[in-house]
Amino acid sequence: MTALRARLKIYNTETRQKEEVAPIDGRTVRMYTCGPTVYNFAHIGNFRTYVFEDLLRRTLKFLGYSVRQAMNLTDVEDKTIQGAIAQKISLDAYTRPFKEAFFEDLQTLNIEKIELYPEATEYVAEMIAIIQRLMDQGIAYKGKDKGIYYSINRFPSYGRLSHLHLDELKAGASECVTTDEYEKENVSDFVLWKSYDPERDGQVWWESPFGKGRPGWHIECSAMAMKLLGESIDIHVGGVDNIFPHHENEIAQSEAYSGKRFVQHWAHSEHLLVDHKKMSKSLGNFYTLRDLIQRGYTGRVVRYMLLQTHYRTQLNFTFQGLDAAQASLERLSCFIARLHGIRKEKLHLVLDLILEKALPESPEKKQWRSRILFDLKQENERDILDPLILEPILKRILFQHPEHKGIVSKILTEWQDEKHRELLIPILEKVLRDVPERTRLLQKIIHDVRNEKDRDILNPDVMKPILHKVLSSFPDKKERVEGALKEIHTQEKKGPVFAILQQTMEKFVLNLADDLNISPALAALFDMVREINSLCDMGKVSIHEAEETLDFLAKIDEVLGVLPLKPEEEVVPAELLDALQKRELARSEKNWQLADECRNFIQARGYLIEDTPTGVRLKKGKIL
Ligand SMILES: [Zn+2]
Repeated sequence: MTALRARLKIYNTETRQKEEVAPIDGRTVRMYTCGPTVYNFAHIGNFRTYVFEDLLRRTLKFLGYSVRQAMNLTDVEDKTIQGAIAQKISLDAYTRPFKEAFFEDLQTLNIEKIELYPEATEYVAEMIAIIQRLMDQGIAYKGKDKGIYYSINRFPSYGRLSHLHLDELKAGASECVTTDEYEKENVSDFVLWKSYDPERDGQVWWESPFGKGRPGWHIECSAMAMKLLGESIDIHVGGVDNIFPHHENEIAQSEAYSGKRFVQHWAHSEHLLVDHKKMSKSLGNFYTLRDLIQRGYTGRVVRYMLLQTHYRTQLNFTFQGLDAAQASLERLSCFIARLHGIRKEKLHLVLDLILEKALPESPEKKQWRSRILFDLKQENERDILDPLILEPILKRILFQHPEHKGIVSKILTEWQDEKHRELLIPILEKVLRDVPERTRLLQKIIHDVRNEKDRDILNPDVMKPILHKVLSSFPDKKERVEGALKEIHTQEKKGPVFAILQQTMEKFVLNLADDLNISPALAALFDMVREINSLCDMGKVSIHEAEETLDFLAKIDEVLGVLPLKPEEEVVPAELLDALQKRELARSEKNWQLADECRNFIQARGYLIEDTPTGVRLKKGKIL
């Protein structure tokens, strides 16, 4: 199923309206993301922002934009340095484990890996170059404490992002601030370069034309964004708490430096509250992602919980809310399992018939049949019609039979034919409905299709010559061939399932394209689940439609990143693997009694030992 193309509109904090995203260079959306300060494990409020940014990135890609994104890691600022000094270790030794933990957490939440993860400490030279130019222009000056400060009076549009009225606020605020974070009431000149203070900075300092010291927090992002993405970028994202002063200061620094507009679109996600209160350690309502995982929630559930509230609405976190997210995902999970089940059930009936005919008569025939069917049922791959999946199973089970090669290839041929019948017969029966010998003609077509190396039999280039040949004796051959090809072409667009999927995709895409309006997009998804479930209840969903729906869900999940598309992998308990190893050793030493004990231990726990050409393995099941 192809996704609809739509242009994305996103709310721009600066202009206070939704605006279409149109890359400056006409090709690639360049996006900058303020990343974590790596002095601790990130909390769920931080991850709300990162999940929003991931949704934005995935939506852009889904809609056909190409994206180049950078997220910085703030490894030098007041908190990281304090941590390193307190533990008497280097800054790098202190921040490294938190950087690693951060990447683990991103993976837990299925946040897509982006192109660039710059670390602030590696861009100090770029920061110094910007500060130097601001000094040369007279926009930056040396303060009484020898630090370098930005004179906000020299940047007339200061405050335009946070919509501050500087003339009202600025009365009396002529001093400058050294701290990186401060409130709007304290709007004032901010620090670019902090002059070295041994007590505050420990071993952390760089040489610069303005003396020994270290960069302020705000200059870090300006330097990394401009260095890696260019002086004018398309989208800058972050949490609302970054708007002032951080992003305001980024604009002032970057634009005074380059003379160009720094950012086209500013997008910010709202706060996360816990039980309607600001999350804080002192209130005991502070949660890292790791806290939630420890309580037994999966990354998917947390991601879904963070994702399902629109990014510009405050999200109130509660454990009931998290449980509800879990329940929603379970509904989707059941639905997906049901679709897999429909495919498998129907295919198993077909394969069973083929095996009945193709397997040679022997006392083991019944056992072979059930083992083949059993093994295929364990396959988590979606396309179990693929001979690449069936073939190794057949070889493994039949390898002792002297004629196994011939038998395997016979079954595979029949199996492939069956797939073609499944796909082609409903189409061709319509075109041939008035022909008395249509069964024979259909068989001929299936036979010819079998000889096609090209697997994509629904491709008109493959089918056209075959149809021409088979229908050559008909006076209205041309019309019939064209009719059949047209039928093949539109085949996917038939039936209620396809109509439901198409409508759902439309709603999903149009809502996301409208400022990531996630609630109606998800509602459309759950409506679809309800409607197709009731078709399943009535037995009206074919193998092909089940596959189509699974493809649809995989497509949707490119954006959501939460669906359990594959059934859970089975994990064999470690004690059984140990027992299997012990048994093999005992057998090699001809200690049959111990070998039998190990086998009994394994079987008593519901597993079977299977001999294969590549060795033994365990699988779930009872002795047949
Ligand atoms: Zn930043």
